[in-house]
Parts: sequence; C-alpha cells; structure tokens
Amino acid sequence: MTAFQGQELIIENLAAGYGKIQVLWDVSVRVGPGEFVAMIGANGAGKTTTLRAVSGVVRPTGGSIRLGGHDITRATPTQIVSLGLGHVPEGRELFGLMTVRENLELGAAMRPEARAKQAQTLDHVYSLFPRLAERAGQLAGTLSGGEQQMVAVGRALMGRPSVLVVDEPSLGLSPLMTQTVFGALKAVHAEGVSVLLVEQNVGLSLKLAQRAYVLENGEVVKEGTGEALLADPGVREAYLAL
Ligand code: ATP
Repeated sequence: MTAFQGQELIIENLAAGYGKIQVLWDVSVRVGPGEFVAMIGANGAGKTTTLRAVSGVVRPTGGSIRLGGHDITRATPTQIVSLGLGHVPEGRELFGLMTVRENLELGAAMRPEARAKQAQTLDHVYSLFPRLAERAGQLAGTLSGGEQQMVAVGRALMGRPSVLVVDEPSLGLSPLMTQTVFGALKAVHAEGVSVLLVEQNVGLSLKLAQRAYVLENGEVVKEGTGEALLADPGVREAYLAL
C-alpha cells in the first residue's frame, strides 16, 4: 500500500510571461497519476516559468492547467496547494533560522487534511529521509546543500501532495549528493506521488523519468520515454554533449 495518492496534471497549450515579455508560447505536458515525468531544455527555455504557472505564482495568459480533474488555470497558490500540489522551488527557499522540524511543519500548515495528519506524515518523511530525523533540531541554514534539498522535498511532502513539481534539485550539489537527492525522489515516486521534474542534469533525469518533454524557447519540441530521448541523437548532441 502506498502512502500517497498520485493524481493527474494536464498542462495544455500554456502561454505565460512576465509583464510584456512572453516566455511560454505553447507548452503541453501531461503527468499521469503516479507517473514520473521530466522536463528538460536549455537555460531560459521556460521550465521554471512552467512550474510557477502550475503553482499559481505566474498567471497564464493562454491555455489551461488541470490538477486531478480541477481546472487550476486561474486559481491562487493557496487554492492550488489545497487541491494537492507540492512545489519544491528552485533554490529551496527554506527558513534558515528555523529548525528542520519547523520548516517541515510549515509544509502541512496550508492544508487542513495535512494538518490533521501532521505527526503521522512527519514520521513518514523521517523514514524517507533518516538524515532529517537526526537533524530535526538543527537550524536549516546550517545544513549541507543536499540536506537542505531533502528538507525542501520533505516540506512539500508534508502537505500530502498528489502531484509534486520539483525545480532543479541538483543545483549546486556534488555528484554524490545529487545521487542521494535523486534516490529520494525515486522513493517519493514509489510512494505513489506523481512527479514533474525540471533538471539541468539531463542524463540522470532521463534515466529516472518514465517520460520526458524537451522545451525550447517556450515550446515543447519533443517528447518521449526517458529511454528514447536518451538515445535521440538531437538530445544527445544538445544536452548530453555526446
Ligand atoms: P534555467 O534553467 O536557466 O532556470 P528555465 O528554462 O527554467 O531556465 P525560466 O527561468 O523559466 O527558464 O526563464 C525563462 C525566461 O523568462 C528567461 O528569459 C528569463 O530571463 C525570464 N524570466 C524569468 N523570471 C522572470 C521574472 N521574474 N521577470 C522577468 N523575466 C523573467
């Protein structure tokens, strides 16, 4: 029995930007219930903006986004979290002067059903990341980069999400720590959560993901299984330097 119930995320013909600057032109991405999907692309392609639109931080100017059957295209971040989205943002955004445990508990604060199960979910997060149990009373700002990334993932899980979107978890981490964090994402997926991962480490993310999308200049230009994209000459040349 899995601990979390994965839902479907459907992004269709998404357009979005910042003020007058349009960044996303036509992004369609589907993450099936319990599926692990990656989104790859060059710097500035619009990956982070896509995740921000999903979590309601950036307002779409066109297209639609559905989460577990709910239209969230115009919903607020609070509404989207309460419908089951967990966002692990680029740069982690932890509260450095709060303890690991306090940071984790914040993740449950916005959803009544998560608050009701807070103690139980906390135990579960500690079982997924034993290192965080050991460091529960330590200030988050004094953790290593990899440990901080575990807190960021754990905090999102505390909201008992059905879909987890994860932005550049390997940023600034050593190869060894990157492997650890990716191992943790694999475990989260095995728990039943649907995952949409944005990642510069294309080789690793395509190995982990069941399917992936390639984003270029705000448009999806390719999609396929992780395996097929790893073997694709265009992907290998552009993103794997092979
Ligand atoms: P990276 O891998 O470098 O993070 P990305 O694919 O995630 O790239 P985005 O961060 O979505 O790309 O950025 C897409 C474009 O939007 C870039 O040209 C960027 O300069 C611009 N952009 C991002 N955030 C803002 C902002 N807050 N205001 C104005 N422009 C922005």
